[in-house]
Amino acid sequence: MACLSQEISMVRGVGSVKARDFARLGLQTLEQALYDFPFRYDDLSNVLQIAEVQAGMKVTVQGRISAIENRKSSQSRRMMVTEAIVEDGSGSMKATWFHQGFLTKVLKPGVIVSLAGKVDDRYGLALVNPAYEVIGKSSTAKHTGRIVPIYRLTGALTQKSRRLVAEKAIVCVPEVAEWMPEYIKTDLRLQPLGAALREMHFPESAETKDKAIYRLKFDEFLLHQLLHAKSRRDLQKQKAPKIKFDEKEVKAAISELPFTLTGAQKKAVWAIIKDMDRTEPMNRLLEGDVGSGKTAVAALVAVNAAASGWQTSMLAPTEILAEQHAKTLERLLGNRLRIALYTRTKRRIHGKEVTKEQLLEALRNGDVDLVVGTHALLTEQVLFMRLGLIVVDEQHRFGVKQRQALKDKQGDKDGIPHLLSMTATPIPRSLALVVYGDLDRSLLDEYPAGRQPIATHIVDVGREGEAYAKMRQDMDNGRQVFVVCPLIEESDALGVQSVNEVFSSFSEGPFAGYRLAMLHGKLKTKEKDGVMRAFAAGEFDMLIATTVVEVGIDVQNATVMYVEGAERFGLAQLHQLRGRVGRGEHGSQCYLHASAMLSPMAKERLMALVNSQDGFELAEADLRLRGPGDVFGTRQSGFEEFKLGTYADIDVISKAKDFAKELLDQDMDLKQYPKLRERMMAYAQEVHFE
Ligand code: ADP
Ligand code: MG
Repeated sequence: MACLSQEISMVRGVGSVKARDFARLGLQTLEQALYDFPFRYDDLSNVLQIAEVQAGMKVTVQGRISAIENRKSSQSRRMMVTEAIVEDGSGSMKATWFHQGFLTKVLKPGVIVSLAGKVDDRYGLALVNPAYEVIGKSSTAKHTGRIVPIYRLTGALTQKSRRLVAEKAIVCVPEVAEWMPEYIKTDLRLQPLGAALREMHFPESAETKDKAIYRLKFDEFLLHQLLHAKSRRDLQKQKAPKIKFDEKEVKAAISELPFTLTGAQKKAVWAIIKDMDRTEPMNRLLEGDVGSGKTAVAALVAVNAAASGWQTSMLAPTEILAEQHAKTLERLLGNRLRIALYTRTKRRIHGKEVTKEQLLEALRNGDVDLVVGTHALLTEQVLFMRLGLIVVDEQHRFGVKQRQALKDKQGDKDGIPHLLSMTATPIPRSLALVVYGDLDRSLLDEYPAGRQPIATHIVDVGREGEAYAKMRQDMDNGRQVFVVCPLIEESDALGVQSVNEVFSSFSEGPFAGYRLAMLHGKLKTKEKDGVMRAFAAGEFDMLIATTVVEVGIDVQNATVMYVEGAERFGLAQLHQLRGRVGRGEHGSQCYLHASAMLSPMAKERLMALVNSQDGFELAEADLRLRGPGDVFGTRQSGFEEFKLGTYADIDVISKAKDFAKELLDQDMDLKQYPKLRERMMAYAQEVHFE
């Protein structure tokens, strides 16, 4: 592992500033760099003789610099233009760069160079701002003359520095052990792992690159399926407490709610209660669009459990959400359930502050029926008297980790708790069947009465005025506005730049005088929480953010969701964002700003949102309208469990599923395949402790 474990900061040519930026992307070792794949490629493999070059082509030419000089631009005195003449045996042509005066020091006359870019013919045939690379005797081309990788960047990182590190990383490939069983490799004609990793970074051809992508997608799907199927089988061997249906208590609780349950909610409550009335551990997913009332369902189930002395623990992804849940639950069922809140900074019972010791003791003694909290609940000190049910909100891992951690938290030995996962990310039915086929699901496909649809509009570039006017009008009336910015990955993995840009253009332009706040990936959790709280408390009129607001807070006073560059997001995700508004009694708007001319396909996708408020329908449309050729591995794809996989990969997933089943049927412990077994354990760690 000597090579793979090498620190990126030790690579020659990576200074401390760049090393810090690599670290910011989560990359500290060459191994991490090896597995951080490009998010797209640029095909510069068309290497031509200069005599063959024509205007409009994207080419690479290779030759000798015969002259090079800097001059001031005739249009702007401040602009430095570098002009070079390059010649190969067939002819010569010009290359021009702007603002890169240092090039005269790198590309001196006589140097053999490889240049790649688009050919322009406005002032004679020329390459404008081409990628360049001095061709040495030993080194192979990294930036020109081939399909080049394009990586996520941040701060001072450039594609060149990323490729430099990638080149070092692939040197370590011999240390990577193949773990895929031979027969699967043969059956699917998979590339060897090492070759695939090399190809991902520096592909030989489009064809071999696609094979590499296939191999690595299959890897992650297979591991995922194995883990899933294995934990499912392990689970079936375990016992959970049988919790009986206390009809009287549940009916009484329902009648006390300030609203009537929807039919879908009733059905879900009933299915869950029935599941828990058996000794097989429940593993159910409760899916429902934002606002469909999942929390109420969970609460009623907790009432049933409490009726026979069983406790419920509900895990939320953030402190704010945990607090929000606790408040809602207190309001709905505070007189029936003893509700507590446990986060890193707050401990309450029935809304009253208590000390950590008091709360821990109450949980241990069974004086709390339902505790809502964050991951802080998973620490060792938290023990329950009789934990019967774990509810996990908005986590895609289906609580493997949570259940593991909470398993041994109860005093008596009635087995493991039942598990209910809740999510608002609608998984298309066809996909769910393949990916999570054996998971029980309940759908809340019905909205509580009286909810108003959110008027949705597409805003073309240059036509923002009307939307801005409406936003000002709402803010003048005391309402609040969300603005969400896309990640423009090449330069801005954390969204700092895109949020900053919108913030400054808004605060100096159309929204001068309003109270604007911003939120992006570089802020610490604490800072993010602070901003969110202040916004929720009405201290700002507008929140400009990345998608961190997606799984977020209930700000009833917010009436506008304005999405910049909406064409860059998946439909499911846009729908999630839209769900951040329209939660109160005020009419709400969602504006989908298109940052570029939309292709007919992109337009069709956005129109689906204008025409539908149904998350499941939209998820299906997303699946249908998204080609396999789409950008992969971005958080914006809305399929976060996988680095490379997307909604379009149903076929690969289904193959992986078959092989996983076959492997586990042969032997649950994979003893025949020690390398696979090892890889799987590592994967389980990655998934559990991400
Ligand atoms: P979700 O978690 O599914 O997004 P919540 O459970 O937070 O939705 O419910 C959203 C809001 O709707 C809450 O204020 C809740 O009290 C309310 N609510 C839930 N069920 C109903 C219902 N059947 N009728 C009216 N309001 C409801
Ligand atoms: Mg919720």
